[in-house]
Formats: sequence, structure tokens, C-alpha cells
Amino acid sequence: MAVVIVGAGMAGVQTAVALREQGYAGTLTLLGAEAHPPYDRPPLSKDVLLGRAEHSRFEIDFDELDIRLDLGRRALSLDVEARAVKTDDGDLGYDHLVLATGAAPVALPGQPDSAFLLRTQDDALALRAALRPGARVVVVGAGWIGAEAATVARQLGCETTVVEAAASPLAGALPAEFGERTRAWYAAAGVELLTASAVSGITARAVHLTDGREIAADVVVVGIGARPDNAWLAGSGIPLDDRGAVRADARLRAGRPEVFAVGDCASFPSARYGRRLAVHHWDNALQGARVVAANLLGGEVDYDPVPYFWSEQFGHMVQVAGSIDAGAQQVARGEDTVLWLREDRLQAVLTVDKPRDLAQGRKLIEAGARLDPEKAADPATALKAATA
Ligand SMILES: Cc1cc2nc3c(=O)[nH]c(=O)nc-3n(C[C@H](O)[C@H](O)[C@H](O)COP(=O)(O)OP(=O)(O)OC[C@H]3O[C@@H](n4cnc5c(N)ncnc54)[C@H](O)[C@@H]3O)c2cc1C
Repeated sequence: MAVVIVGAGMAGVQTAVALREQGYAGTLTLLGAEAHPPYDRPPLSKDVLLGRAEHSRFEIDFDELDIRLDLGRRALSLDVEARAVKTDDGDLGYDHLVLATGAAPVALPGQPDSAFLLRTQDDALALRAALRPGARVVVVGAGWIGAEAATVARQLGCETTVVEAAASPLAGALPAEFGERTRAWYAAAGVELLTASAVSGITARAVHLTDGREIAADVVVVGIGARPDNAWLAGSGIPLDDRGAVRADARLRAGRPEVFAVGDCASFPSARYGRRLAVHHWDNALQGARVVAANLLGGEVDYDPVPYFWSEQFGHMVQVAGSIDAGAQQVARGEDTVLWLREDRLQAVLTVDKPRDLAQGRKLIEAGARLDPEKAADPATALKAATA
């Protein structure tokens, strides 16, 4: 049997490792468009950008695991009938195929080459070289990546401004009141934050806003989101959802019994949340990979995780477990923890510098536990003791 995994990021690498761990002994090829040895992305906006680490390569002995790394080679199209991936260096046949091509960053219309994106190791090293003390840095987007990039730019002594089109930071991901709370973090770090400020263009030395303002910039970083990197699947018959993610089923199969999809490139139906989820976070790439390996080897495992992610910004650790649903009952637990309940069952928990609440909340969501909202709102009561 031959397994081909397209995409040598977290999801692809972990699928390969999990296949070996779960006993697969056949041919295993990991195809990756980037020429670098496979690496982890979260450190790119943290230690690598800061210069505390030179790289974030996975410490995995691929030879030892008999995983064939086929790097610097891009999949261009897919013929599911012939079971062949067409690449820029010939065809690659498979018996089982795993789609793990991740996501690509969104650029602003007409964005010049001089502006930086932050998705790859090359992006991080190029940006790092530009973040010199005193440089005027404008970060477009106050989402997760923008906030982390601004944190590092400031730590490196850059004059940093963040420009956000929405009324508050993290607007796409979290309720506005939480995003508003992070405004004080920007101020404390000495980062200027301009919200409700849409960019109309970027020129060599400035970022221009739609209201006519012009912000001088030596370095511009654009962090306005990422989209599933699935253009190469056009015409293949592999189902995509309305946001361009591979539409996987509950077992992460992608339209055909021998094809799977995992990580940032895929969405899946969650019975737990009663809706389709597309999760662009590290833990999803890890957990999903294990489920793909199990099902590829004949298992019947449904993928229904409690999504989890973290972000390190302005000296704070923000963590979220679960999926935040606008209609759920929101319960504040002191200053630093927010809970979302539906019929008293915990759906999601957000914490700032409160790892214990996060860990306990995550387990309670997994267990489908019911909470007593009054007890849960009291930070003096351990969350795990707040069950109804
Ligand atoms: C800077 C940064 C910081 C992050 N920080 C955090 C964090 O703090 N916490 C958190 O939870 N998550 C974080 N994330 C998100 C997390 O890293 C991603 O969710 C995770 O990398 C997804 O893994 P993946 O394998 O699905 O996709 P990717 O890591 O994007 O890997 C996909 C790989 O496929 C390759 N590829 C794409 N198309 C093709 C093709 N046609 N042929 C061959 N290869 C192809 C790409 O080159 C890429 O290497 C961060 C992401 C970034 C970019």
C-alpha cells in the first residue's frame, strides 16, 4: 500500500508519525511545497521572530520512521480516478491520499512586495531582519497574528502601530468586550492601536487609510487572516465548503473512501456543537492527524474534538477551549475567565493567564458536564467543583 500526504506542515507530519505509531508499515511519502525541513508554525510569531530561536524544525527522525520526505515539490492538481497527484515534478500515485495543505495568508488588494506576511519560516526570518530598533512598524490587522507580531516588534524596540478595520481587536474571533479589554495591553506595551481604521493602500513609506490619514512606515506587516490552500483541488471532484475548505465527513474522509483531509485546509461536522467547524489552530492539526491515521488503517473513529488554542500577546497567555457560540449564555468568572453555557452545559471557556481554569474547563466540556452558573461565576470555587 502507498500513502501520499500532501502538505508537510503540522497536520501532514503528525499524520505520517501517527500512521507509523499505529502500525502502518507500507510506503509513506510526505510531499511539501516548501524546501525547508518540516517545521512548527506557532514559534514563528514568537521565539523565531524575536531571535530567541533560529528555527522551529520538528525534532523527528523521518529516516528512522521510514517516512519519505519529498520537499520543494508542489501538488498542482489531482486525478482521483487515476489515483495520482500531479506535481511540478511529475505524477505521484497513491492508494490512500491525505490532504494537509494548510492555509495561505490573505493579502490586501494591491499589496506591494515590500509588505510582509507572516506564515512561513522564510516570512518570519525576512521580517525579523527588518525589525530593527527604532524602525516604524505598522501592523495591519489586530487579530492573533497581528497582536503577536506587534508584541515582538515592540520588544525589539520598534515604534509600533496596529491598524484594525473593525471596532475592536480580535473582532473576528471573540466577542467585542473581550477584544476591547486587550486595548489596554496595547497601551501598556507602548503600541498605538487604531481601530475602525481601514487601509486603502500601502506605499513605499506609508500606510494610507480610507479616511485620508497616512501613517509613516518603514516596515508594514499584514496579518488579516488566512484561507484554506486548496486551489490545486479545482476540478478534482473533492468537495469544498463555501469557504474553500475541504468538506470532510465526521471521520475526516474527503468525498472518497481513500482520501482524507486534516488541519487548516479542512472543515468537519461537529456533533458536539451541531455545526461544521473549520479550526485554524495547532491542536486541531495534531488531534485530527491521529484520527486520520486510525481511520485510514481501517478504524471507525469520529473526529469531534473540543477545539483548543492559545495566543501569547503583550505578556499575556490567552487560551480558548471549545467553540464560542453567539447564542450561548456568557458567564464572567472574575476578571480573567469567561464561560459560555448552553442549557447549563459548558460549551467554551476563555482564560487570560489562568491555565487551571482552562484545563478544568476543557475537561468539563469534553465530559459534557452541567455547571451551576452561580458557582461557576465565583473564582473562589474551583471550576471542576462548580458542576450542577
Ligand atoms: C505565525 C503563526 C503563528 C501561529 N501561532 C499559533 C498559536 O500560538 N496557537 C495555535 O493554536 N495556532 C497557531 N498557529 C496556527 C497553526 O500553526 C496552524 O493551525 C497549523 O500550522 C496548521 O497546520 P497544517 O499542517 O494544517 O497547515 P500548515 O502548517 O499551513 O502546513 C501546510 C503545508 O502544506 C504545504 N502546501 C500547501 N500547498 C501545497 C501543495 N499544493 N503541494 C505541496 N505542499 C503544499 C505548505 O507549504 C505548508 O508547509 C499559528 C500560525 C502561524 C502562521
